Amino acid sequence: MQGMMMNRPLAVIDLLTYAAEAHPGAGLVSVRCEGDIHRETYAEALARSAQLAHALAALGVKRGDRVATLAWNGYRHFELYYAISGMGAVCHTINPRLSAEQMLYIIGHAGDSVLFFDLTFVPLIEALAEHLPKGLRLVVMTDREHMPQTGLDLLCYEELLAGQPERFAWPELPEDSAAALCYTSGTTGHPKGALYSHRSTVLHAFSIAVSLPKSLNEGARVLPVVPMFHVNSWGLPYAGPMVGASLIMPGGKLDGASVWELMETENVTASWGVPTVWLGLTAEIAKRGRAPHALTQAVIGGSAAPRSMIENFEKMGVDVCHAWGMTEMSPVGTHGQLSASMSDLSFEQRMKLKSKQGRRVFGVDLKIVAEDGTALPHDGKAAGELFVRGNTVVSGYFNNPEATRAALDDDGWFGTGDVATIDPHGFLSIQDRTKDLIKSGGEWISSIDLENLAMAHPKVANCAVIAVAHPKWDERPLLVVVPRGEDRPTLEEIHALMEGHMAKWQLPDDMVFVEALPLTATGKVSKLTLRQTFADYVLPDVR
Ligand code: AMP
Repeated sequence: MQGMMMNRPLAVIDLLTYAAEAHPGAGLVSVRCEGDIHRETYAEALARSAQLAHALAALGVKRGDRVATLAWNGYRHFELYYAISGMGAVCHTINPRLSAEQMLYIIGHAGDSVLFFDLTFVPLIEALAEHLPKGLRLVVMTDREHMPQTGLDLLCYEELLAGQPERFAWPELPEDSAAALCYTSGTTGHPKGALYSHRSTVLHAFSIAVSLPKSLNEGARVLPVVPMFHVNSWGLPYAGPMVGASLIMPGGKLDGASVWELMETENVTASWGVPTVWLGLTAEIAKRGRAPHALTQAVIGGSAAPRSMIENFEKMGVDVCHAWGMTEMSPVGTHGQLSASMSDLSFEQRMKLKSKQGRRVFGVDLKIVAEDGTALPHDGKAAGELFVRGNTVVSGYFNNPEATRAALDDDGWFGTGDVATIDPHGFLSIQDRTKDLIKSGGEWISSIDLENLAMAHPKVANCAVIAVAHPKWDERPLLVVVPRGEDRPTLEEIHALMEGHMAKWQLPDDMVFVEALPLTATGKVSKLTLRQTFADYVLPDVR
Protein backbone atom coordinates (compact mmCIF):
# COMPACT_ATOMS: atom_id res chain seq x y z
CA MET A 1 0.00 0.00 0.00
CA GLN A 2 1.28 3.41 -0.97
CA GLY A 3 1.84 5.99 1.77
CA MET A 4 -0.16 9.16 1.33
CA MET A 5 2.34 11.90 1.95
CA MET A 6 3.47 14.66 -0.36
CA ASN A 7 6.66 14.01 -2.21
CA ARG A 8 8.55 17.29 -2.41
CA PRO A 9 11.98 17.14 -4.03
CA LEU A 10 14.93 17.86 -1.76
CA ALA A 11 16.79 20.90 -3.06
CA VAL A 12 20.12 22.44 -2.10
CA ILE A 13 18.79 26.00 -2.46
CA ASP A 14 16.17 25.29 0.23
CA LEU A 15 18.96 25.08 2.82
CA LEU A 16 19.75 28.73 2.17
CA THR A 17 16.20 30.04 1.67
CA TYR A 18 15.37 28.38 4.99
CA ALA A 19 18.42 29.86 6.76
CA ALA A 20 17.63 33.34 5.42
CA GLU A 21 14.25 33.14 7.09
CA ALA A 22 14.85 31.01 10.18
CA HIS A 23 18.34 32.09 11.21
CA PRO A 24 18.49 35.80 10.43
CA GLY A 25 21.42 36.48 12.77
CA ALA A 26 23.66 33.78 11.32
CA GLY A 27 25.89 34.06 8.28
CA LEU A 28 29.43 34.13 6.99
CA VAL A 29 32.63 35.81 8.12
CA SER A 30 35.30 35.58 5.43
CA VAL A 31 38.98 36.38 5.27
CA ARG A 32 39.19 37.82 1.76
CA CYS A 33 42.01 37.55 -0.77
CA GLU A 34 41.77 41.37 -0.90
CA GLY A 35 43.15 41.34 2.65
CA ASP A 36 40.18 42.35 4.81
CA ILE A 37 37.35 40.59 6.63
CA HIS A 38 33.91 40.44 5.05
CA ARG A 39 30.61 39.71 6.81
CA GLU A 40 27.23 38.79 5.40
CA THR A 41 24.08 37.19 6.78
CA TYR A 42 22.49 34.18 5.11
CA ALA A 43 19.73 36.52 3.90
CA GLU A 44 22.35 38.67 2.16
CA ALA A 45 24.05 35.56 0.79
CA LEU A 46 20.71 34.42 -0.65
CA ALA A 47 20.10 37.79 -2.31
CA ARG A 48 23.58 37.77 -3.84
CA SER A 49 23.18 34.13 -4.92
CA ALA A 50 20.02 35.19 -6.74
CA GLN A 51 21.96 37.99 -8.48
CA LEU A 52 24.65 35.51 -9.38
CA ALA A 53 22.09 33.03 -10.78
CA HIS A 54 20.77 35.83 -13.05
CA ALA A 55 24.34 36.59 -14.10
CA LEU A 56 25.00 32.92 -14.86
CA ALA A 57 21.84 32.73 -16.94
CA ALA A 58 22.97 35.84 -18.81
CA LEU A 59 26.28 34.06 -19.54
CA GLY A 60 24.25 31.27 -21.11
CA VAL A 61 24.53 28.70 -18.30
CA LYS A 62 21.69 26.20 -18.53
CA ARG A 63 20.44 23.29 -16.42
CA GLY A 64 22.98 20.49 -16.18
CA ASP A 65 25.90 22.70 -17.32
CA ARG A 66 29.05 22.40 -15.25
CA VAL A 67 30.40 25.61 -13.73
CA ALA A 68 33.84 25.34 -12.14
CA THR A 69 35.33 27.05 -9.11
CA LEU A 70 38.96 27.37 -8.09
CA ALA A 71 38.70 29.12 -4.77
CA TRP A 72 39.37 29.21 -1.05
CA ASN A 73 36.72 29.10 1.65
CA GLY A 74 34.86 32.39 1.42
CA TYR A 75 31.49 34.02 0.86
CA ARG A 76 31.74 34.30 -2.91
CA HIS A 77 32.54 30.59 -3.15
CA PHE A 78 29.52 29.94 -0.90
CA GLU A 79 27.31 32.07 -3.16
CA LEU A 80 28.55 30.08 -6.15
CA TYR A 81 27.59 26.81 -4.45
CA TYR A 82 24.01 27.97 -4.04
CA ALA A 83 23.56 29.97 -7.25
CA ILE A 84 24.94 27.22 -9.50
CA SER A 85 23.09 24.31 -7.88
CA GLY A 86 20.00 26.43 -7.26
CA MET A 87 19.55 27.28 -10.95
CA GLY A 88 19.98 23.60 -11.86
CA ALA A 89 23.60 23.68 -13.02
CA VAL A 90 26.43 21.67 -11.43
CA CYS A 91 29.04 23.25 -9.19
CA HIS A 92 32.39 21.67 -10.02
CA THR A 93 34.96 22.50 -7.35
CA ILE A 94 38.57 22.20 -8.51
CA ASN A 95 41.41 21.51 -6.08
CA PRO A 96 44.13 24.08 -6.82
CA ARG A 97 46.76 21.72 -5.42
CA LEU A 98 46.30 19.28 -8.29
CA SER A 99 48.99 19.23 -10.94
CA ALA A 100 48.39 21.42 -14.01
CA GLU A 101 47.92 18.25 -16.03
CA GLN A 102 45.26 16.88 -13.68
CA MET A 103 43.49 20.23 -13.56
CA LEU A 104 43.32 20.46 -17.33
CA TYR A 105 42.13 16.87 -17.47
CA ILE A 106 39.22 17.44 -15.09
CA ILE A 107 38.18 20.75 -16.67
CA GLY A 108 37.99 18.91 -19.99
CA HIS A 109 36.38 15.79 -18.55
CA ALA A 110 33.76 17.78 -16.65
CA GLY A 111 33.06 19.92 -19.74
CA ASP A 112 33.06 23.13 -17.70
CA SER A 113 31.62 26.18 -19.44
CA VAL A 114 32.61 28.87 -16.92
CA LEU A 115 35.49 28.97 -14.44
CA PHE A 116 35.34 31.23 -11.38
CA PHE A 117 38.61 31.77 -9.50
CA ASP A 118 40.07 33.68 -6.59
CA LEU A 119 42.70 36.40 -7.07
CA THR A 120 45.34 34.04 -5.66
CA PHE A 121 44.98 31.83 -8.70
CA VAL A 122 45.46 34.46 -11.42
CA PRO A 123 49.08 33.33 -12.07
CA LEU A 124 47.90 29.71 -12.24
CA ILE A 125 45.22 30.56 -14.80
CA GLU A 126 47.72 32.60 -16.81
CA ALA A 127 50.03 29.58 -16.90
CA LEU A 128 47.20 27.24 -17.95
CA ALA A 129 45.48 29.70 -20.31
CA GLU A 130 46.68 28.43 -23.66
CA HIS A 131 45.64 24.86 -22.80
CA LEU A 132 42.18 25.73 -21.49
CA PRO A 133 39.20 24.68 -23.64
CA LYS A 134 38.17 27.29 -26.18
CA GLY A 135 35.02 29.09 -25.10
CA LEU A 136 35.60 28.60 -21.36
CA ARG A 137 34.55 31.88 -19.70
CA LEU A 138 36.86 33.10 -16.93
CA VAL A 139 35.55 35.09 -13.97
CA VAL A 140 37.77 36.59 -11.25
CA MET A 141 36.08 36.53 -7.84
CA THR A 142 36.73 40.15 -6.92
CA ASP A 143 35.57 43.72 -7.60
CA ARG A 144 36.64 46.10 -10.37
CA GLU A 145 39.19 47.82 -8.15
CA HIS A 146 41.12 44.59 -7.59
CA MET A 147 40.91 43.18 -11.10
CA PRO A 148 44.32 41.98 -12.26
CA GLN A 149 46.14 43.43 -15.25
CA THR A 150 46.52 40.54 -17.66
CA GLY A 151 46.23 39.85 -21.33
CA LEU A 152 43.41 37.40 -20.63
CA ASP A 153 39.76 38.01 -21.35
CA LEU A 154 38.47 38.12 -17.76
CA LEU A 155 35.08 38.90 -16.30
CA CYS A 156 34.66 40.51 -12.88
CA TYR A 157 32.44 38.78 -10.27
CA GLU A 158 31.07 41.92 -8.64
CA GLU A 159 30.35 43.50 -12.02
CA LEU A 160 28.39 40.44 -13.05
CA LEU A 161 26.22 40.75 -9.94
CA ALA A 162 25.75 44.52 -9.99
CA GLY A 163 22.23 45.59 -10.89
CA GLN A 164 20.85 42.03 -11.10
CA PRO A 165 17.54 41.35 -9.27
CA GLU A 166 17.91 40.04 -5.72
CA ARG A 167 15.30 37.37 -6.24
CA PHE A 168 15.45 34.40 -8.56
CA ALA A 169 12.68 31.98 -9.50
CA TRP A 170 14.60 28.91 -8.36
CA PRO A 171 13.36 26.05 -10.57
CA GLU A 172 11.83 22.92 -9.07
CA LEU A 173 14.26 20.17 -10.04
CA PRO A 174 14.03 16.40 -9.74
CA GLU A 175 15.82 15.72 -6.46
CA ASP A 176 18.17 13.22 -8.04
CA SER A 177 19.50 15.77 -10.52
CA ALA A 178 23.17 16.63 -10.17
CA ALA A 179 24.11 19.53 -7.88
CA ALA A 180 27.88 19.32 -7.43
CA LEU A 181 30.90 17.54 -8.84
CA CYS A 182 34.17 16.78 -7.07
CA TYR A 183 37.05 14.77 -8.48
CA THR A 184 39.05 12.43 -6.27
CA SER A 185 42.71 13.24 -6.34
CA GLY A 186 43.65 9.69 -7.26
CA THR A 187 47.36 9.01 -6.96
CA THR A 188 47.30 6.70 -9.94
CA GLY A 189 45.33 7.10 -13.13
CA HIS A 190 43.06 10.02 -13.85
CA PRO A 191 40.99 11.67 -11.13
CA LYS A 192 37.45 10.31 -10.97
CA GLY A 193 34.32 12.42 -10.54
CA ALA A 194 31.84 12.00 -7.67
CA LEU A 195 28.62 13.62 -8.87
CA TYR A 196 26.44 14.58 -5.90
CA SER A 197 22.70 15.05 -6.31
CA HIS A 198 20.41 17.54 -4.57
CA ARG A 199 18.97 14.63 -2.62
CA SER A 200 22.33 13.22 -1.48
CA THR A 201 23.59 16.67 -0.53
CA VAL A 202 20.57 17.55 1.60
CA LEU A 203 20.49 14.11 3.22
CA HIS A 204 24.20 14.41 4.01
CA ALA A 205 23.56 17.80 5.63
CA PHE A 206 20.88 16.16 7.79
CA SER A 207 23.15 13.28 8.68
CA ILE A 208 26.09 15.39 9.85
CA ALA A 209 23.80 17.81 11.68
CA VAL A 210 22.25 14.91 13.58
CA SER A 211 25.58 13.16 14.21
CA LEU A 212 27.66 16.16 15.26
CA PRO A 213 25.37 18.47 17.24
CA LYS A 214 28.25 19.83 19.32
CA SER A 215 29.61 21.42 16.16
CA LEU A 216 26.39 22.07 14.34
CA ASN A 217 23.76 23.96 16.30
CA GLU A 218 22.04 27.32 16.19
CA GLY A 219 24.43 30.06 17.19
CA ALA A 220 27.54 27.89 16.70
CA ARG A 221 30.50 29.49 14.90
CA VAL A 222 32.18 26.84 12.81
CA LEU A 223 35.51 27.27 11.05
CA PRO A 224 35.85 24.87 8.13
CA VAL A 225 39.59 24.40 7.75
CA VAL A 226 38.76 21.68 5.27
CA PRO A 227 38.55 23.46 1.94
CA MET A 228 35.41 23.97 -0.10
CA PHE A 229 37.35 22.44 -3.01
CA HIS A 230 37.67 19.14 -1.12
CA VAL A 231 34.35 17.28 -0.89
CA ASN A 232 32.36 20.47 -0.34
CA SER A 233 34.16 21.23 2.89
CA TRP A 234 32.71 18.01 4.32
CA GLY A 235 29.20 19.39 3.90
CA LEU A 236 29.58 22.37 6.26
CA PRO A 237 28.40 24.99 3.73
CA TYR A 238 25.13 23.03 3.55
CA ALA A 239 24.64 21.93 7.17
CA GLY A 240 25.70 25.31 8.66
CA PRO A 241 22.78 27.28 7.18
CA MET A 242 20.41 24.40 7.88
CA VAL A 243 21.02 24.49 11.63
CA GLY A 244 21.76 28.22 11.96
CA ALA A 245 25.49 27.94 12.56
CA SER A 246 27.68 30.74 11.20
CA LEU A 247 30.64 29.82 9.02
CA ILE A 248 33.99 31.47 9.66
CA MET A 249 35.86 31.20 6.37
CA PRO A 250 39.65 31.39 6.62
CA GLY A 251 40.42 32.02 2.93
CA GLY A 252 43.92 30.88 2.04
CA LYS A 253 45.45 31.58 5.46
CA LEU A 254 45.70 28.12 6.97
CA ASP A 255 48.92 28.31 9.03
CA GLY A 256 48.58 27.62 12.76
CA ALA A 257 49.03 31.24 13.86
CA SER A 258 46.45 32.65 11.43
CA VAL A 259 43.89 29.97 12.26
CA TRP A 260 44.42 30.45 16.02
CA GLU A 261 44.00 34.23 15.70
CA LEU A 262 40.85 33.94 13.60
CA MET A 263 39.35 31.42 16.02
CA GLU A 264 40.12 33.67 18.95
CA THR A 265 38.77 36.92 17.49
CA GLU A 266 35.71 35.36 15.87
CA ASN A 267 34.70 33.24 18.89
CA VAL A 268 34.91 30.02 16.91
CA THR A 269 33.19 27.15 18.71
CA ALA A 270 34.06 24.26 16.40
CA SER A 271 36.42 23.51 13.57
CA TRP A 272 36.82 20.67 11.10
CA GLY A 273 39.97 19.64 9.24
CA VAL A 274 42.64 17.08 8.35
CA PRO A 275 45.41 16.14 10.82
CA THR A 276 48.16 17.96 8.91
CA VAL A 277 46.43 21.29 9.47
CA TRP A 278 45.77 20.45 13.12
CA LEU A 279 49.50 19.85 13.59
CA GLY A 280 50.03 23.56 12.87
CA LEU A 281 47.26 24.59 15.24
CA THR A 282 48.40 22.29 18.07
CA ALA A 283 51.92 23.77 17.78
CA GLU A 284 50.37 27.25 18.07
CA ILE A 285 48.26 26.15 21.05
CA ALA A 286 51.39 24.79 22.74
CA LYS A 287 53.19 28.10 22.08
CA ARG A 288 50.40 30.21 23.54
CA GLY A 289 49.59 27.77 26.33
CA ARG A 290 45.87 27.59 25.56
CA ALA A 291 43.30 26.78 22.91
CA PRO A 292 41.28 29.63 21.36
CA HIS A 293 38.86 30.66 24.11
CA ALA A 294 35.51 29.54 22.65
CA LEU A 295 36.68 26.37 20.90
CA THR A 296 34.75 23.36 22.17
CA GLN A 297 35.07 20.79 19.38
CA ALA A 298 37.63 19.76 16.77
CA VAL A 299 36.47 17.30 14.13
CA ILE A 300 39.48 15.52 12.66
CA GLY A 301 39.30 13.31 9.60
CA GLY A 302 40.66 12.70 6.15
CA SER A 303 43.46 10.59 7.55
CA ALA A 304 44.00 8.96 10.92
CA ALA A 305 44.16 11.38 13.84
CA PRO A 306 47.11 10.35 16.03
CA ARG A 307 46.13 9.61 19.62
CA SER A 308 48.69 12.13 20.89
CA MET A 309 46.87 14.88 18.95
CA ILE A 310 43.49 13.81 20.33
CA GLU A 311 44.91 13.81 23.88
CA ASN A 312 46.49 17.24 23.46
CA PHE A 313 43.19 18.79 22.46
CA GLU A 314 41.19 17.00 25.13
CA LYS A 315 43.61 18.14 27.84
CA MET A 316 43.00 21.72 26.66
CA GLY A 317 39.26 21.18 27.11
CA VAL A 318 38.50 20.70 23.41
CA ASP A 319 36.35 17.70 22.56
CA VAL A 320 37.80 15.74 19.64
CA CYS A 321 35.59 13.88 17.24
CA HIS A 322 37.44 11.60 14.86
CA ALA A 323 35.61 11.16 11.56
CA TRP A 324 36.13 8.93 8.56
CA GLY A 325 34.83 9.29 5.05
CA MET A 326 35.60 9.65 1.39
CA THR A 327 34.94 11.95 -1.54
CA GLU A 328 32.66 9.17 -2.77
CA MET A 329 30.61 9.39 0.45
CA SER A 330 29.83 13.13 0.44
CA PRO A 331 32.11 12.51 2.58
CA VAL A 332 31.21 11.65 6.20
CA GLY A 333 30.69 7.93 6.84
CA THR A 334 31.51 7.54 10.53
CA HIS A 335 32.03 9.85 13.49
CA GLY A 336 33.46 9.37 16.97
CA GLN A 337 30.92 11.34 18.97
CA LEU A 338 30.57 9.30 22.17
CA SER A 339 27.11 8.51 23.54
CA ALA A 340 25.91 10.08 26.76
CA SER A 341 26.14 6.63 28.38
CA MET A 342 29.91 6.70 27.76
CA SER A 343 30.51 9.85 29.78
CA ASP A 344 31.54 7.89 32.86
CA LEU A 345 34.35 6.08 31.03
CA SER A 346 37.86 6.82 32.27
CA PHE A 347 40.08 9.24 30.29
CA GLU A 348 42.12 6.24 29.07
CA GLN A 349 39.01 4.38 27.89
CA ARG A 350 37.67 7.46 26.12
CA MET A 351 40.99 8.11 24.37
CA LYS A 352 41.03 4.50 23.19
CA LEU A 353 37.57 4.85 21.70
CA LYS A 354 38.26 8.29 20.24
CA SER A 355 41.33 7.00 18.44
CA LYS A 356 39.03 4.75 16.44
CA GLN A 357 37.14 6.27 13.52
CA GLY A 358 33.76 6.01 15.25
CA ARG A 359 30.32 4.73 14.36
CA ARG A 360 28.39 5.03 11.12
CA VAL A 361 26.19 8.02 10.46
CA PHE A 362 22.49 7.36 9.94
CA GLY A 363 21.86 6.14 6.40
CA VAL A 364 25.27 4.57 5.76
CA ASP A 365 25.77 0.81 6.08
CA LEU A 366 29.21 -0.74 6.57
CA LYS A 367 30.50 -4.25 5.91
CA ILE A 368 33.96 -5.74 6.01
CA VAL A 369 34.83 -8.64 3.76
CA ALA A 370 37.64 -11.16 3.42
CA GLU A 371 39.67 -11.45 0.23
CA ASP A 372 37.27 -14.12 -1.06
CA GLY A 373 34.33 -11.73 -0.61
CA THR A 374 32.77 -13.36 2.48
CA ALA A 375 31.46 -10.99 5.12
CA LEU A 376 33.53 -10.85 8.32
CA PRO A 377 32.16 -10.51 11.86
CA HIS A 378 32.02 -7.16 13.67
CA ASP A 379 34.09 -8.44 16.58
CA GLY A 380 36.79 -5.79 16.66
CA LYS A 381 39.36 -8.38 15.55
CA ALA A 382 38.59 -9.54 12.02
CA ALA A 383 40.08 -7.09 9.51
CA GLY A 384 38.83 -6.90 5.95
CA GLU A 385 38.14 -4.50 3.12
CA LEU A 386 35.48 -2.01 4.03
CA PHE A 387 32.44 -1.68 1.77
CA VAL A 388 29.70 0.93 2.17
CA ARG A 389 26.25 1.71 0.83
CA GLY A 390 23.74 4.47 1.45
CA ASN A 391 21.97 7.50 0.04
CA THR A 392 25.09 9.66 0.32
CA VAL A 393 27.41 7.14 -1.41
CA VAL A 394 28.20 7.35 -5.14
CA SER A 395 26.52 4.85 -7.43
CA GLY A 396 29.39 5.20 -9.88
CA TYR A 397 31.81 7.76 -11.30
CA PHE A 398 30.87 10.58 -13.66
CA ASN A 399 31.32 9.48 -17.28
CA ASN A 400 33.58 6.62 -16.28
CA PRO A 401 31.91 3.19 -16.69
CA GLU A 402 35.18 1.33 -16.25
CA ALA A 403 35.98 2.88 -12.86
CA THR A 404 32.33 2.44 -11.87
CA ARG A 405 32.47 -1.30 -12.60
CA ALA A 406 35.67 -1.66 -10.59
CA ALA A 407 34.26 0.22 -7.59
CA LEU A 408 31.09 -1.76 -6.88
CA ASP A 409 30.63 -5.37 -5.76
CA ASP A 410 27.95 -7.67 -7.15
CA ASP A 411 25.42 -6.43 -4.61
CA GLY A 412 26.08 -2.79 -5.41
CA TRP A 413 28.20 -1.96 -2.35
CA PHE A 414 31.05 0.51 -2.88
CA GLY A 415 34.59 -0.77 -2.11
CA THR A 416 36.46 1.86 -0.13
CA GLY A 417 39.97 0.44 -0.53
CA ASP A 418 40.37 0.72 3.24
CA VAL A 419 41.07 -2.21 5.54
CA ALA A 420 39.21 -2.03 8.82
CA THR A 421 37.81 -3.78 11.85
CA ILE A 422 34.41 -3.03 13.37
CA ASP A 423 33.79 -3.80 17.03
CA PRO A 424 30.51 -5.11 18.51
CA HIS A 425 29.48 -1.53 19.42
CA GLY A 426 29.92 -0.48 15.80
CA PHE A 427 33.21 1.41 16.22
CA LEU A 428 35.20 1.34 13.02
CA SER A 429 38.97 1.15 13.19
CA ILE A 430 40.80 1.86 9.94
CA GLN A 431 43.96 -0.24 9.73
CA ASP A 432 45.23 1.11 6.45
CA ARG A 433 44.57 1.74 2.81
CA THR A 434 44.86 -1.69 1.17
CA LYS A 435 47.84 -0.42 -0.79
CA ASP A 436 49.59 1.01 2.30
CA LEU A 437 49.42 -2.15 4.44
CA ILE A 438 52.80 -3.75 5.00
CA LYS A 439 52.93 -7.44 4.18
CA SER A 440 55.67 -9.12 6.21
CA GLY A 441 56.11 -12.89 5.91
CA GLY A 442 52.48 -13.26 4.84
CA GLU A 443 51.16 -11.25 7.81
CA TRP A 444 49.81 -7.70 7.69
CA ILE A 445 51.18 -4.78 9.68
CA SER A 446 49.13 -1.61 10.03
CA SER A 447 51.17 1.48 9.21
CA ILE A 448 48.53 3.64 10.95
CA ASP A 449 49.01 1.81 14.27
CA LEU A 450 52.78 2.27 14.12
CA GLU A 451 52.48 5.96 13.20
CA ASN A 452 50.03 6.54 16.00
CA LEU A 453 52.45 5.13 18.56
CA ALA A 454 55.51 6.92 17.16
CA MET A 455 53.66 10.26 17.23
CA ALA A 456 53.52 9.98 21.02
CA HIS A 457 57.30 10.56 21.21
CA PRO A 458 57.91 14.21 22.14
CA LYS A 459 60.74 14.50 19.61
CA VAL A 460 58.52 13.36 16.71
CA ALA A 461 56.77 16.27 14.98
CA ASN A 462 55.26 14.08 12.26
CA CYS A 463 55.89 10.63 10.82
CA ALA A 464 54.84 7.99 8.33
CA VAL A 465 55.48 4.28 8.04
CA ILE A 466 55.97 2.67 4.64
CA ALA A 467 56.83 -0.76 3.34
CA VAL A 468 60.30 -1.36 1.91
CA ALA A 469 61.37 -4.51 0.13
CA HIS A 470 63.01 -7.29 2.12
CA PRO A 471 64.47 -10.47 0.55
CA LYS A 472 63.16 -12.79 3.26
CA TRP A 473 59.97 -11.13 4.55
CA ASP A 474 58.82 -9.45 1.27
CA GLU A 475 58.19 -6.15 3.03
CA ARG A 476 59.25 -4.60 6.30
CA PRO A 477 58.19 -1.30 7.92
CA LEU A 478 60.41 1.77 7.64
CA LEU A 479 59.63 4.73 9.90
CA VAL A 480 60.08 8.15 8.31
CA VAL A 481 60.28 10.91 10.92
CA VAL A 482 60.15 14.69 10.87
CA PRO A 483 62.02 15.50 14.11
CA ARG A 484 60.89 18.28 16.41
CA GLY A 485 63.98 20.48 16.58
CA GLU A 486 67.59 19.33 16.60
CA ASP A 487 67.25 16.60 19.19
CA ARG A 488 66.33 13.36 17.43
CA PRO A 489 64.63 10.28 18.88
CA THR A 490 66.40 6.92 18.69
CA LEU A 491 64.83 3.81 17.22
CA GLU A 492 65.16 2.11 20.62
CA GLU A 493 63.06 4.88 22.22
CA ILE A 494 60.41 4.48 19.52
CA HIS A 495 60.40 0.70 19.94
CA ALA A 496 59.97 1.14 23.70
CA LEU A 497 56.80 3.19 23.02
CA MET A 498 55.46 0.52 20.71
CA GLU A 499 56.23 -2.58 22.74
CA GLY A 500 53.20 -3.86 24.55
CA HIS A 501 50.94 -2.41 21.84
CA MET A 502 52.37 -4.26 18.86
CA ALA A 503 54.02 -7.65 18.39
CA LYS A 504 57.81 -7.51 18.27
CA TRP A 505 57.92 -8.60 14.61
CA GLN A 506 55.66 -5.67 13.69
CA LEU A 507 58.03 -2.96 14.90
CA PRO A 508 59.81 -0.79 12.28
CA ASP A 509 63.18 -2.17 11.19
CA ASP A 510 64.71 1.24 10.74
CA MET A 511 64.11 4.97 10.97
CA VAL A 512 65.08 7.80 8.63
CA PHE A 513 64.74 11.55 9.13
CA VAL A 514 63.29 14.03 6.66
CA GLU A 515 62.58 17.77 6.87
CA ALA A 516 58.95 17.42 5.81
CA LEU A 517 56.59 14.72 4.60
CA PRO A 518 55.27 14.97 1.04
CA LEU A 519 51.56 15.82 0.93
CA THR A 520 48.84 14.96 -1.57
CA ALA A 521 46.54 17.60 -3.05
CA THR A 522 44.14 17.05 -0.17
CA GLY A 523 46.75 17.58 2.52
CA LYS A 524 47.36 13.92 3.38
CA VAL A 525 50.78 12.33 3.63
CA SER A 526 51.62 10.93 0.21
CA LYS A 527 52.77 7.38 0.94
CA LEU A 528 53.14 6.83 -2.78
CA THR A 529 55.78 9.56 -3.02
CA LEU A 530 57.52 8.23 0.10
CA ARG A 531 57.57 4.71 -1.29
CA GLN A 532 59.11 6.07 -4.48
CA THR A 533 61.71 8.07 -2.53
CA PHE A 534 62.74 5.05 -0.47
CA ALA A 535 62.25 2.44 -3.21
CA ASP A 536 65.92 1.43 -3.07
CA TYR A 537 66.31 1.68 0.67
CA VAL A 538 68.35 -1.20 2.08
CA LEU A 539 67.37 -2.26 5.60
CA PRO A 540 70.13 -2.79 8.22
CA ASP A 541 69.86 -6.59 8.36
CA VAL A 542 70.26 -6.83 4.58
CA ARG A 543 73.20 -4.48 4.24
P1 AMP B 1 39.34 11.37 0.16
O1 AMP B 1 38.41 10.83 -0.82
O2 AMP B 1 40.44 12.17 -0.43
O3 AMP B 1 38.61 12.11 1.24
O4 AMP B 1 40.08 10.15 0.86
C1 AMP B 1 39.37 9.12 1.47
C2 AMP B 1 40.32 8.22 2.20
O5 AMP B 1 40.97 8.92 3.26
C3 AMP B 1 39.66 7.06 2.91
O6 AMP B 1 39.38 6.01 2.03
C4 AMP B 1 40.69 6.70 3.96
O7 AMP B 1 41.73 5.91 3.42
C5 AMP B 1 41.27 8.04 4.33
N1 AMP B 1 40.65 8.53 5.57
C6 AMP B 1 39.66 9.42 5.70
N2 AMP B 1 39.39 9.66 6.99
C7 AMP B 1 40.22 8.86 7.72
C8 AMP B 1 40.43 8.63 9.12
N3 AMP B 1 39.75 9.29 10.05
N4 AMP B 1 41.35 7.71 9.47
C9 AMP B 1 42.07 7.05 8.55
N5 AMP B 1 41.93 7.23 7.23
C10 AMP B 1 41.01 8.12 6.81
